[in-house]
Amino acid sequence: MSMNASARIDELRRIIEQHAHHYYTLDAPTISDAEYDALIHELRRLEAEYPNLITPDSPTQRVGATPLEAFGKVQHPHPMTSLVDAFTREEVQQWLQRAQRLLPEGEPLAFVAEPKIDGLAVALTYERGALVRAATRGDGITGEDVTANVRTIRNVPLRIPVADEMPPPAVIEVRGEIYMPRDLFSAMNAEREARGEATFANPRNAAAGSVRQLDPSITASRPLRLFAYAVGYVEGYEIATQADALELLRQLGLSVNVDILVCEDFDRVLRYCEEWMAKRDQLNYEADGVVIKINSLDTQRRLGIVGNAPRWAVAYKFPSREATTRLLEIAINVGRTGVLTPYAVLEPVQLSGVTIRQASLHNFDDLLRKDIRAGDTVVVQRAGDVIPQVVRPIVELRDGSQQPFVPPSTCPSCSQPVERTQGEVALYCVNPSCPAQTLRLLEHWASRGAMDIDGLGIRVAEQLVAAGLVHDVADLYQLMREQLLVLEGFQERRVANLLAALDASRQRPLWRLLTGLGIPGVGAKAAQMLAERFRSVDALRAADQNVLEEIEGIGPTTAAAVVSYLNRPATVELLQRLRNGGVSMAEAAPPAAMDTTDVAEGVTSTLAGLTFVVTGTLPDMSREEAEALVLAHGGKATSSVSAKTSYLVVGERPGASKFNKAQQLGIPMLDEAGLLALASGSRLPG
Ligand SMILES: [Zn+2]
Repeated sequence: MSMNASARIDELRRIIEQHAHHYYTLDAPTISDAEYDALIHELRRLEAEYPNLITPDSPTQRVGATPLEAFGKVQHPHPMTSLVDAFTREEVQQWLQRAQRLLPEGEPLAFVAEPKIDGLAVALTYERGALVRAATRGDGITGEDVTANVRTIRNVPLRIPVADEMPPPAVIEVRGEIYMPRDLFSAMNAEREARGEATFANPRNAAAGSVRQLDPSITASRPLRLFAYAVGYVEGYEIATQADALELLRQLGLSVNVDILVCEDFDRVLRYCEEWMAKRDQLNYEADGVVIKINSLDTQRRLGIVGNAPRWAVAYKFPSREATTRLLEIAINVGRTGVLTPYAVLEPVQLSGVTIRQASLHNFDDLLRKDIRAGDTVVVQRAGDVIPQVVRPIVELRDGSQQPFVPPSTCPSCSQPVERTQGEVALYCVNPSCPAQTLRLLEHWASRGAMDIDGLGIRVAEQLVAAGLVHDVADLYQLMREQLLVLEGFQERRVANLLAALDASRQRPLWRLLTGLGIPGVGAKAAQMLAERFRSVDALRAADQNVLEEIEGIGPTTAAAVVSYLNRPATVELLQRLRNGGVSMAEAAPPAAMDTTDVAEGVTSTLAGLTFVVTGTLPDMSREEAEALVLAHGGKATSSVSAKTSYLVVGERPGASKFNKAQQLGIPMLDEAGLLALASGSRLPG
């Protein structure tokens, strides 16, 4: 019986480790989570029955039971050196020249270029395949023993090789970086925020803080991962190059970054660095540069170490993504639905090569929790997206003049009292004739995703509202040449262009009108379904909620919002005035007419044949607007990533599954600017 149990336990451990490897390292699970749990459960049950069969490398032992009193010290058998930094192409070339001067003339050199993961460096020692020790870098000679914590990281094998294809090395020291993938970091922060807990400033801090916990169960609860990038030393395997080392690590079942490249010459290295700087924001991990290593270990040995840094490697650092500056003012934006959003007006500062003047403050609760005040010196960050954010105030630099922020009780635009909807964080202005809301509605109406009116941006909308010419979208269709000519910056030609653009918008397809009205929950996709089904505003208004709910893709909330919106007296009046202004309220032609209408209007089919998935928050467009833009240019927008997806459009806080799937399938990613460039028919930036 015990023999059978022993054999079954061994079998279970092997199967579980293999599945864990497929799941966490290869990102390609072979069984469902439930099946995985069942295997773990069976193993736990057997181990409980036969406690003498429990071994430290069993997958059930990942969560250390005993909290550490303090971290023990570990002497590194070979020092963990740190790298020399280079900040320009010239400095990288100088590094190479210094190395070449120490080598025989004409010695051919190959290189390995690796993204420099921003996390916590560790050394893992495996003896006869078992993980026996994990240590932080410390001062390079002595590190901290974090074995119990590192054991909880799910893509760190407790036993190697993961697959039984080769004998384990007698001893191997694996060097790597513990990091937190961006998507998991965002999800974790969102959960912490929802629970009212403090959020982490960035994935690096979160990773380092999570590993250096005294209670391993806290580490276990954090979404940490390891990238192995070097072999400190190995007994029982011969390796001649850094590329060999990476291959050995892969074969043993450790996670090696797939983005590492072996370069046969230095020009390729420099090109690699440029490519990476351009796409660093699209990666699911934080990288603050590229590490360049000379490939041959023999050459490495001959070059040796100077001070604490090897001569055979250099870290080419990306420009910083964080900067500090003064927060001049906490300003408030009023959105199209009346929601008030705070943002920071900053003393201009350079960040990743861009001048930053404003930054997001998310919402009032976040702002108050971080206690950000006007006059503070603040840390500003651009990470993984285009919108810069205020991370935190530097409290030590306050001079006493900074007063705590008080959320407004009135709308900054119309001075009417604001309301807070129960259960929601946001403050709202509920005044239907609030000028700020009118502006946003006009902007939305004219946007590319809705009525697509050329030359009617937010500035022009501001002028029209300020001059008292426009109070809502229907007023646009009563504008006269003489009225526009008196506006600043409007000459004959510009007036004629704007009037022509407005005139063209009178014949837009019905879905564009429905999108432009800004009915809650009705983006371009829902608007298209409604337009296709009802073909006129009158028919849609005649439909009751049940009929609407029967349409696939229209939920009860949206159906209710449509009925309520279309039957409001204010809406009935607005629609009548739009009709009087000559705006089409029905589909002109048979269903297939949408595309041909667009082509006739001169909208190009630049995205024809391409399928897009949008994830995360884009800087200037809502997801619906982005999807509408895709549709309007002949493309397709879907909600899930598959092999048929042409591009993933990525905004702030992208969805983890979409992002990972796209990475796994090698689907190219775009930001908002990239999408706009593609739609406009120009080449991709960068
Ligand atoms: Zn207002």
